[in-house]
Formats: sequence, structure tokens, C-alpha cells
Amino acid sequence: MFKAKAYSAASATSPLAIDSIQRRAASGRDVQIEILFCGICHSDLHTVRNEWSSVMPTTYPCVPGHEIVGRVSKVGSDVKNFNAGDIVGVGCLVDSDHDCPICNNNLEQFCSNASFTYNSPDKHGTAPVTYGGYSESIVVDERFVLKVPGNLDLAGVAPLLCAGITTYSPMRRWGDLKGKKVGIVGLGGLGHMGVKFARAFNGHVVVLTTSPGKQEDALRLGADEVIISTNPDEMKQHAGSFDFILDTISADHDVNAYLNMLCIDGNLTLVGAPEKPFPVSAFALLFGRKSISGSLIGGIKETQEMLDFCGEHNITSDVEVIPIQAANEAYERLLKSDVKYRFSIDMASLKAE
Ligand code: NAP
Ligand code: ZN
Repeated sequence: MFKAKAYSAASATSPLAIDSIQRRAASGRDVQIEILFCGICHSDLHTVRNEWSSVMPTTYPCVPGHEIVGRVSKVGSDVKNFNAGDIVGVGCLVDSDHDCPICNNNLEQFCSNASFTYNSPDKHGTAPVTYGGYSESIVVDERFVLKVPGNLDLAGVAPLLCAGITTYSPMRRWGDLKGKKVGIVGLGGLGHMGVKFARAFNGHVVVLTTSPGKQEDALRLGADEVIISTNPDEMKQHAGSFDFILDTISADHDVNAYLNMLCIDGNLTLVGAPEKPFPVSAFALLFGRKSISGSLIGGIKETQEMLDFCGEHNITSDVEVIPIQAANEAYERLLKSDVKYRFSIDMASLKAE
């Protein structure tokens, strides 16, 4: 085992602060990674503040971060696919049981023995729970390490590991979006990746935002149209017209307003994970045979496919690169929907601590 610098929260009300954590020594199929960039996902904030306590309570100290890009510094003796010096990614998953029917179907995110990158019981016993990417290093089984295309900016690659796959996967699953009217609700970290993928899949892309100030950016990112969702007239004009809507909102909201925007047989997929359950009107679904569903990140195979797609299409996240010392302020800005469009922590800043 070795010690690594990290930023952790000591309780739901504590700010993130410098800490020293244990990592296991790389053995067998382990890859040790020096972390270069880590994105800040709204899930980090939900977890640090124990906002998902009813479903996934947080164990403290909590080291968040599941949008990791880094350089391989060591490999265990059985590692087949990576060498020291390789640039790699790690997303929300670091382990599973590998051979259940779910894992064999490349859906490790739903395996009952899946280990998430932070706040999951640590199967290796290095610490009570797994510790994520707000750290100088991490050790991960090679089966959960991704290859990063060489042509992309690394600060902008990090968010692909969660925001990227979380938006790519449900759109791929829905089917061919070519010429379909696709709504992206909420222009934050997930939403702006949703816009880029929907554009790359040749959909007619419409952003539904509460922030009039994001209108120009939405068009620049690839939207064909923008609806200010707080304006009832604009919402009414588009009622009944969407084939597919991806809802990325992180806070409580009225999902029925968006179900009303779907056409017959339209689908709304939730990826946003607000804390509280919300009411769904049966009539909003019955009239038009509409459906509502959810989606959770993506499996490892699909995550690699997404990264390769981004390499081919030159897609990265639009990031504001920050030092780790600005992480608490970044959380406050997330709560104000003030992010353009993902914070990416330059982990070199941890050396100063
Ligand atoms: P984010 O960057 O903070 O973006 C969320 C966006 O939602 C905001 O920018 C804002 O967009 C909109 N919004 C916020 N509060 C709102 C409100 N009260 N009413 C209406 N719109 C509101 O967050 P993120 O990192 O993209 O994550 C979004 C959600 O997805 C979080 O709940 C996160 O935990 C979840 N998530 C789920 C998965 C999964 O696998 N399903 C993976 C990652 C994250 P506008 O300013 O455009 O309105
Ligand atoms: Zn995330």
C-alpha cells in the first residue's frame, strides 16, 4: 500500500480539503495511474452532501471524482493491455464480478457486485470504501481502464468518462436519431455532451434551458433551436412534437411539462438524478402512448466505443480548467447552473499542497 494526496469531505456539511489516503500496491491485473485531470460531475456534489442518503448513503471521508484521465505509472505482472506511459481513462466503475449474465452482456453498471469509483465498499480492503479521482493517483483493474484516443485535449476528455457515456448510451439505445426531433433538457455537464452527440447522430437538436444566457452557447454547441423552458408560450409552440427527450436536470422539477412535449410513441429518458421522487401524470403518458425511462452511465465496452467515436469525430467536453483548491467554489457555481460546461480539475495543482 502507499499513501496518496487527495481532496476529501469529512461530513455532509464539510468542505473538500486536503487529505492523505491509502491506495493498494498494483498487483495482478492492476494498473496504477497518475491522475492528470478529473471532471466535476453533479453526482460528486450529490454524494459529498449525502443528498442520495435514501438510496446510496455516503461514507466519510468521501473522495469524489469519476471522470479521470491520467498516465499509467505502473502495471501489475498480469496486465495485458496497458504499459507504463499510456494515457488512459477511468469512469464511474472500477470493478464488478466479471462473469454474471449481466457482465457477460456488457452491462457491468447493473451488476449486483459492481464497485463504483467512489463510495462503494472496497473489495480489496484498502479502505472502507473506494476513493475517487480528486487525488494524485488511483489503482484500477485493467478491465475497467479505457484507452484514450491520441488526438483529443485531455482536460476535455475527462468529462467523457461520465457525462459523455451517460448521454451517448441512451441515445444509441433509442435508435437512429437521424432527422428526429431530440430535446436536451438542462445545459450543464451532461446536457452539453447530449447536444454534441445528438448533433453527431444527425438529430434535429433542441435545447430546453432555464437560462436565457445560454442560448448562444447552445447554438454554438450544435443545437438547431433553443426553448426557454420558463416561457409557457415557447413551450406550448413545441407541444407534442419531440421524438426523444433526454432530461439531465439535477434538481426537483415538473417532468410532466416535458412529457407534454413528446409526440405519439415519444420517449423521455431521465439521466438526471434529483434527490426526491416526483409525480408523473398518467394522462401525460396515456394520451400519445408515451414512455418514460431511465439510464445509468454505460458498460465498459460501450464507454470505449464512445471514446473511439469522440476520437473519430473530434468531440470533447467544453471545460473550465480549475485547480483543486477551487473545487468548493465550483460546487457552489454548479448549484447556480453556472458552469460552461464542465469543471475539469488540473490535478498538477495538488502538488502544491
Ligand atoms: P450540471 O452540470 O449541474 O447541470 C444540470 C443542469 O440542469 C443545469 O445546468 C441547469 O441547466 C439545469 N437545472 C439545474 N437546476 C434546475 C432546476 N431547478 N430546474 C430546471 N433546470 C435545472 O449537472 P450534471 O453534472 O450535468 O448532472 C445532471 C444530473 O445528472 C445530476 O443529478 C447528476 O447526478 C446526474 N447524473 C446521472 C448519471 C446517470 O448515469 N444517470 C450520470 C451522471 C450524472 P439550464 O441552466 O440549462 O436550465
Ligand atoms: Zn458523473
